[in-house]
Amino acid sequence: MVEEADPVPAAPWPELLPWQAAPAVALLAKRATLPHALLITGPGGIGKRAFALNVARALLCESPRSDALACGACPSCTYAASAQHPDLLMVQRIEADADTEEKKKDPYGVDRIRELTEWATLTSHRGGRKVAIVYPAESLNVSSGNALLKTLEEPPPDTYLLLVSHQPGRIPATLRSRCGFVAAPRPSADEARQWLQAQGVTDATAILAQAGGAPLRALALAEPAWQEERGVWLAALAKPSALPAVALAARLEARQREERKDRLGFALDWLLAWTADLARAAAGAPPLRNPDFADALHALAATVAPVALFRYHRLLLRQRALVAHPLQPKLVAESLLFAYRDLFR
Ligand SMILES: [Zn+2]
Repeated sequence: MVEEADPVPAAPWPELLPWQAAPAVALLAKRATLPHALLITGPGGIGKRAFALNVARALLCESPRSDALACGACPSCTYAASAQHPDLLMVQRIEADADTEEKKKDPYGVDRIRELTEWATLTSHRGGRKVAIVYPAESLNVSSGNALLKTLEEPPPDTYLLLVSHQPGRIPATLRSRCGFVAAPRPSADEARQWLQAQGVTDATAILAQAGGAPLRALALAEPAWQEERGVWLAALAKPSALPAVALAARLEARQREERKDRLGFALDWLLAWTADLARAAAGAPPLRNPDFADALHALAATVAPVALFRYHRLLLRQRALVAHPLQPKLVAESLLFAYRDLFR
């Protein structure tokens, strides 16, 4: 999925997810010695953003609970809940589409990082700590990373920087090496299923499998429209000789520009999960992500060369990493679908 592009946290403030409470308490217990720059990492769809926002809220809280979590009632918590806290800065989706004027002028978000570094030097409005969150941090490149470097090297007192990323390997090493690492809490299979059921998802186990166990991604996927779209794509992938590559790719064009990227993101996830399942089927293992297509996967697995499949999977991964960049979803999908069809020739 493509990350949100809002400049401020969406209200209402996302609560700590059930699997995040104990790790948040453990992290905040070390508050006195916490590094001023933290790199919070983990796979997409497990709630890293909610975790980072709640750690920030706790750091800013003016009367934290005995377990160091935010009280939820002090002026600082109230400002945070309405996304108006003057000492909390969210920098989201720094590098982005080239379509808007602002982004054309500053495609790599260098100006926004400079704003952050200036903000970091200001005195705290509420007389306490200040926290900035950069999300997703893999959108930092060498230029915007250099702009951030000085703040990381000499962080102003009581100022914290939380970098949130599911692809930390793409963050310049000069930045990574100056951060403390925090593995974002992951739910157990039971916790993920229970949470998803509590959100009203009835076939939680099947949808969690589709989402690779990531509950927030599963919640998005559970939308009937996405389930229907997945059915269309997977049925087409199951019959490569008749694959309607152009028509399938054209389905991405349906709506607004932002939604096209979401659609490409979902399509890439389906292709990735499908090819991973094909590799499992070729090795005689049952599919993990698409058990509802087990028969088709096993039949196809017998007809594909493992090396070609592996190369194709890597190509998909590279493309997945680029999905937030300016690109033409329809053309990307077309070329990937043609390449998929060629695997079976
Ligand atoms: Zn509070």
